[in-house]
Amino acid sequence: MSPYLFAIPVFFLLVAIELYVAHRRGVQVYRFQDTLTSMNIGTVSQFVNTIGGAISVAMYAILVERFGAFTWDTSNPLTWVLALVLYDFFYYWVHRSGHEVNILWAAHVVHHSSEEFNMSTAMRQSSTGFYFRWVFYVPLALLGFPVKVFLTVAVIDLVYQFWVHTRLIGRMGFLELFLVTPSNHRVHHGQNDYCIDKNYGGILSIWDRMFGTYADERADEPPMYGVRKPLQSWNPVWGNVHHYFAIVTQARATAGWRNKLMCFFAGPGWLPPGAPPVSANFEADKFVRFATPAPQWMGQVALAATVIGSLLLMYFLFAQKGFTPVQRFSFSGAMVLVYGALGYAWLHPRVQGAAHV
Ligand SMILES: [Zn+2]
Ligand SMILES: [Zn+2]
Repeated sequence: MSPYLFAIPVFFLLVAIELYVAHRRGVQVYRFQDTLTSMNIGTVSQFVNTIGGAISVAMYAILVERFGAFTWDTSNPLTWVLALVLYDFFYYWVHRSGHEVNILWAAHVVHHSSEEFNMSTAMRQSSTGFYFRWVFYVPLALLGFPVKVFLTVAVIDLVYQFWVHTRLIGRMGFLELFLVTPSNHRVHHGQNDYCIDKNYGGILSIWDRMFGTYADERADEPPMYGVRKPLQSWNPVWGNVHHYFAIVTQARATAGWRNKLMCFFAGPGWLPPGAPPVSANFEADKFVRFATPAPQWMGQVALAATVIGSLLLMYFLFAQKGFTPVQRFSFSGAMVLVYGALGYAWLHPRVQGAAHV
């Protein structure tokens, strides 16, 4: 049974606790449309990754079987601790590559698409990262760590990262020295100059300190969340694919094969020769958070759709073991299509115009 079947209710509980604490403190850390979008992106990613993840695990299993160098005693806790530390090390490189190689950024950008920072932001997981992420963990397979160890530490690493998405927990003393915390992860989600390409760690921040990508949060300049090329959409499917379209568009308009390849494999900030220069500095006074007018009924419909989608996901995670691969693929594919269509409808000018009626 999927561990996320248990994790998802805990995530919702954490969101509820954060909402309650924010209410008590009189601060607003959630916006309705943004939160629903985060939840919908999370649901879509779960539907896709049950299939994408299965492919990754199958690849890992083949590699362990054929090339695994050592046999590990899984009754020894040290095996699990070592696997977790190594996994976290490779996660650092997965994540760093996801920021520093444009085609991989296309997969990861959805995690940074929120201009808020709260527990629901953590639900913005990529639906398209599965095709390359497993490659970074091949060394674990070559070392012979069994599939169940790999899967367990992968879930621990991901679930750990949920609670660090909050503005309500301040700095955490000596823990800041070696752990990923809400404070240093806020920096990771910031678009201020000092935040760019910093704090890639999953559980441990020591990798950032070792490889020169660590930055502390500044009290004099709190992070402003989001990305410099904003998504400006509430569509969970478009949120996952929009940067792929942007890359292809840029490559088609760029002359020369070398430059075309650079569009895919250079950093996201790379510009073709002759392209108009883009300001390298964040201009906080020009930043406006994305919002669209919407009548109350539309919010209620969106909320109902989000709740129904979450319940269908829970059913899918619960029942999928009994599905054939075709049924599993059809269910997931249909859900992604429905989410894409609903997201498109939500943004349709005719519907948005209803706000002014
Ligand atoms: Zn990131
Ligand atoms: Zn994050």
